[in-house]
Amino acid sequence: MRSIPRPSRLRAPLGLRGRASEAAATLGLETVGDVLEHLPDRHLDREERTLASLAPGEEATVGVVVRGVDTRPMRRRRGVRVEARVADASGPALAVWFNQPWVARQLGPGTSVLLRGALKRGNEFHVREWEQDDGADAAVHTLGRVAVYRAAEGISKRSLRDLAQRARDALGEVVEPLPAALRAEERLPDRPAALAAAHFPETDADFDAARERLALEELLLLELALGRRKRERRARRRAVALELGGGLAEPWRKALPFDLTGEQRAAIAAIDGDLASEAAMHRLLMGEVGSGKTVVALHAMLRAVEDGRQAALMAPTETLADQHLTTLDRLLGGLVPIALLTGATPAARRRELLGRLGSGELGLVVGTHALIELAVRFRDLAVAVVDEEHRFGVRQREALDAKAPDGRAPHLLHLTATPIPRTLELTGYGELEVTALHELPRGRRQVETHVVSGERARGRAYERAREEIARGRQCFVVCSLVEESESLQARAATAEAERLRATEFRDHRVALVHGQLPSAQKQAAMREFASGSADVLVATSVIEVGIDVPNATTMLIEEAERYGLSQLHQLRGRVGRGEHRGLCILFGDPKLPRLEAIARESNGFRLAEVDLELRGAGEVLGTRQHGMPRLKFAELPEDGGLLVRGRVRAEALLELDPGLEAPEHALLRAALEARFDGA
Ligand code: ADP
Ligand code: MG
Repeated sequence: MRSIPRPSRLRAPLGLRGRASEAAATLGLETVGDVLEHLPDRHLDREERTLASLAPGEEATVGVVVRGVDTRPMRRRRGVRVEARVADASGPALAVWFNQPWVARQLGPGTSVLLRGALKRGNEFHVREWEQDDGADAAVHTLGRVAVYRAAEGISKRSLRDLAQRARDALGEVVEPLPAALRAEERLPDRPAALAAAHFPETDADFDAARERLALEELLLLELALGRRKRERRARRRAVALELGGGLAEPWRKALPFDLTGEQRAAIAAIDGDLASEAAMHRLLMGEVGSGKTVVALHAMLRAVEDGRQAALMAPTETLADQHLTTLDRLLGGLVPIALLTGATPAARRRELLGRLGSGELGLVVGTHALIELAVRFRDLAVAVVDEEHRFGVRQREALDAKAPDGRAPHLLHLTATPIPRTLELTGYGELEVTALHELPRGRRQVETHVVSGERARGRAYERAREEIARGRQCFVVCSLVEESESLQARAATAEAERLRATEFRDHRVALVHGQLPSAQKQAAMREFASGSADVLVATSVIEVGIDVPNATTMLIEEAERYGLSQLHQLRGRVGRGEHRGLCILFGDPKLPRLEAIARESNGFRLAEVDLELRGAGEVLGTRQHGMPRLKFAELPEDGGLLVRGRVRAEALLELDPGLEAPEHALLRAALEARFDGA
């Protein structure tokens, strides 16, 4: 006989109406199962007291018997008071409810009730919460361990406690997705027990253990989802396996005027491994400005050229593309031709370049998004380097993939100067292989950083800048209302440049650059500063990633509180790049945690961790435009340790059973698909 599947109580609707139902939905609560997965934030421990023992105003729970009930209009305001004469063994009191007339109907004489509230003047007990007294064990709201749920407008903590109580019966139908072996090894309670203990624990420790069990499961599922996506992508994005050792990259490397650091060599080896495989590379190389990423990237690009193919480097802005061209040119020393293609490239030059890219005559190209326009055809694009991955979306990647021949994808290397905290590397970034360059090859010289506010401090800041200029150095003034439109930013920068020319820097040459200047003027201003003929460059944050002037030692940043931590760190990375130590003065509130951190901490990787602690994973990932599913049980970065455990377990599982097809993994796969599919 076949058993008829019973509709699971977990999928049953909550039986709420109208507004309450909508409010529950905003919390993601539509079914009984949802309620079981909506964990309390914490629990209160409430004990019963006697009326006589209460100090005035003290909030407490009392157990009383109702003697009689009246409903009266309120004296001064409009509304009603329900008044119940009550007593416990220690004596009587008058229990009062405000504007809840229905309460009167629920309070017959002789009823035992538990009241939570405080004793006020005139022996009135003002009730905040109450319930019928069906014995201490049955109390939900006023006595014993009381769950505190995240509530929302239209649905109270109290209703959520009631919903959880009602969902309790369905716990028996909760399925255990974790394989028994894993559960035994990790010593985890089963899922129904963990959910029960999370809602109705006997101690705080029980609650913590239960939440951790659920968080670990959730992070394991997340890592399984990421791991599977990574494997799928590897199988789908096929590239050409490059023939390494064509006699270009290695001699070039050996001829460099410096020794590569160990980390650079390791990065090159990892990338070589990727390039020699048919699974398209999808690697992120992260390291602060000056950590030597470009050298590593160029090595990868030369691997394409030595195999008779092409490579491109794409930057987010024209200024940056320009900068890259200069750097690459210098590093190449004429070894291989390289060209620049941006939106500003004149039409004739552009036609010529497109011809040379199409024929394969040109092996290396640097540019902006202009590189992925439809009209741009490569003969054989094998390696693509994308600088600053967070400005690069899926559509751009697809456009870039389409530049490689025969339906193959190019090997893709992302560069970023914004380090990703380890915790996040394992989440949204789980799909990328990540290589980090932690060390700066020439040592890390801290940029002296101060946060100041007030007119006197401002005056001293300009004075210090002038001292530096007197020593022959240069100064950036960054003034950019980052949230404002480009035209407002441009106006603010222009006004500031004029002000400074007339006041603080009246004896100096002040150049100005902002996003709205025509390209030629922008270049001219940058050149003026780079060549040293301007002492001061007033700029919007376009210089964030775009300029390399070793003689610039000072940076003043206006309205520093409007920048994110990583932005500030990037900005300050522009000074002190030469032989002289950098000085960065931020105008802003020195007490702001973010600004305090930037003044204290010079290591970008550690700042990234601070940023994560200050803002939380959701925010950090959000600004990076990285979709990450909302987590129900886990909290990042706090649960970083569980995340690592989840990752290790996920990798081991996928190693053995990539499709999760073994019978003992069927429930795990079902849970994975229910939770993270398409996420
Ligand atoms: P990034 O792209 O990470 O900002 P670059 O690759 O542009 O860093 O390197 C910064 C500077 O350091 C460049 O002038 C580069 O030539 C130099 N450089 C790179 N690697 C080394 C090294 N191992 N030793 C000394 N100098 C290096
Ligand atoms: Mg660089």
